[in-house]
Amino acid sequence: MKFSKFGQKFTKDSAILQLMDDLGNALNSDKPVNMLGGGNPASIPELNAVYQETLESVVADAFALDSVGNYSNPQGDTKFINTLVEFFNRHYGWELTSNNIALTNGSQNAFFYLFNLFAGQFADGTDKAILLPLAPEYVGYADVHIDGVHFVAVPPNIELVTHENNEGFFKYRVDFDALENLEELKNGKIGAICCSRPTNPTGNVLTDDEMARLTAIAKKYGVPLIVDNAYGMPFPNIIYTDTTLSWDRDTVLCFSLSKVGLPGTRTGIIVADAPIIKTISNMNAIVNLSPVRFGATVATPLFADDRIKTLSDMVIQPFYQAQASLAVSRLQAEFDGYPVKIHKPEGAIFLWVWFEHLPISTTVLYQMLKEQGTLIIPSEHFFVGVDTANYPHAKECIRLSIAQPDETIIKGITTIGEVVRRLYDGV
Ligand code: PLP
Repeated sequence: MKFSKFGQKFTKDSAILQLMDDLGNALNSDKPVNMLGGGNPASIPELNAVYQETLESVVADAFALDSVGNYSNPQGDTKFINTLVEFFNRHYGWELTSNNIALTNGSQNAFFYLFNLFAGQFADGTDKAILLPLAPEYVGYADVHIDGVHFVAVPPNIELVTHENNEGFFKYRVDFDALENLEELKNGKIGAICCSRPTNPTGNVLTDDEMARLTAIAKKYGVPLIVDNAYGMPFPNIIYTDTTLSWDRDTVLCFSLSKVGLPGTRTGIIVADAPIIKTISNMNAIVNLSPVRFGATVATPLFADDRIKTLSDMVIQPFYQAQASLAVSRLQAEFDGYPVKIHKPEGAIFLWVWFEHLPISTTVLYQMLKEQGTLIIPSEHFFVGVDTANYPHAKECIRLSIAQPDETIIKGITTIGEVVRRLYDGV
């Protein structure tokens, strides 16, 4: 049996597949594990109650609502798309029509489409890449290209900052000097610019000023700016900084129902200019016939009356902000006097911790912690598109999930403290 070049891509071992296997095995193991590694959203009882109630009414009426008895058209469930058009226009005044929105099976599916649409071989013979203006970035982008890898990324400027008047924090900033002088941009080798905001893995939120500069660069070179809002506003709105969200025809906004607590419904939402939406719809038809309808059916009433926004503002955001505070205070207690810094928590469901001058890489640390029953994710994989060989910072950080119950966060951070302090102390 022989696989094509495309098929072989999926047979290769990749570090991130190994990590995902570890996470899955940990969840199924009998031994207690402090699971600070995954990207699953938290189980929040108040949210679950709303979804349970909505699901029950949808299930009672599932055939009448078309959600399981019919395919939608390839663009996605029309009723949900129309509800989303009204929702975004009501809150942002973007003047969208139904030609500006398509649904996908999760936003991961959207990135597979978008990155293959805007990067790879072009008819004129050029080979274009996706520009990640600030690495580290979401590791799920790394392997989506069907032929080769097409990323160019710019490592960040690191600024030491305070958080709630405390020292010991840093913030990544886009290195605009490097970006504005990037050869690949000048030579037409970039097909689109993409950033997650807030960023997985760091919890960084690009400022409005940074977004305006990225928009200007994208317009200057005639490429779309893709903004991944998986954790962003207006839902799940896991953002603690004062920022705004913009859209115009040169911007592609990607949303997801996953981090509002519905990852199993696999519902992604793309807001873009009509020709992009038409092409995405065609891709849906070829790959899926039509996108999953169930999430759309559950979500429609929650978007129609803005409950999704109220839940995001009043339940989801405060929940993660409290978890971030807990994790920060535990980390600061464990590492008082050590050269350990935390990325300023500005959003998303993670903390990003920098063990400066750690004598081993965090990939090795990951194995040590795994043996002690605590799972985290080491940093190197997140530097998508960066040559990490001579970049020590890329091997000195870890990502911690804060979506777990308090007890798991406390136990996990205690173990990390014990192991890492011994490494720094050389004992
Ligand atoms: N983008 C970011 C930044 C993410 O963290 C994730 C999932 O963790 C996704 C996209 C994909 O999410 P989904 O396919 O569940 O919508």
